[in-house]
Amino acid sequence: MTRIVLATHNPGKIAELRRILGGLDVTGLDAFPGAPDVPETEPTFEGNALLKARAIAAFTGLPAVADDSGLCVDALNGMPGVLSARWSGRFGAATGDRDAANLRLVLDQIADVADGRRGAAFVCAAVLVVPGGAEHGVEGRMRGALIREPRGTGGFGYDPIFVPDGESRTTAELSPEEKDAISHRGKAFRALAALVPAALPTESA
Ligand code: IMP
Repeated sequence: MTRIVLATHNPGKIAELRRILGGLDVTGLDAFPGAPDVPETEPTFEGNALLKARAIAAFTGLPAVADDSGLCVDALNGMPGVLSARWSGRFGAATGDRDAANLRLVLDQIADVADGRRGAAFVCAAVLVVPGGAEHGVEGRMRGALIREPRGTGGFGYDPIFVPDGESRTTAELSPEEKDAISHRGKAFRALAALVPAALPTESA
């Protein structure tokens, strides 16, 4: 069976890619002690995903998938974007709950923005790098709007303030399956899965 490495230690992401890439052996970075922890220094989601996938493909010698994602807020000209995980900086880290500090900072920054102009999108770039072979990149997006106070206990990050278009619940109020079906990451992973069979070297496919 073809083995693919997902450049993450996050068990939720590994389980999601396994569900979508049924039939392929998806392994996370825990199986590769000493794998490099690649800093996300690029200005685009795709650039950061490529940095990670290239480093992990080189280290393991196996086809590597990596993703990078974030929240892009219209009223903030697309920010926090690639800075989503670290938006509240050292202050947020010091609170011990960085996700909550990031979310609160975004809410404060757009407190005066009218309801009709609170649009945002979750964006995910996913890439596949085959050692000595091709590189493939795809992007998934979920459009929605930001509410004024957090709602829901599921998900992570900015989920409690994001209501997808066509929904009345936040993504923190959806089941994991409901979120997968419409999420930026679900869309990107499914698009990448469609490319995998043709992208892998025939001896390992
Ligand atoms: P990464 O792709 O794991 O680097 O995630 C970047 C950051 O974007 C996360 O720390 C969250 O703040 C935010 N983010 C990405 N995807 C989601 C999501 O599905 N829900 C909520 N926040 C997200």
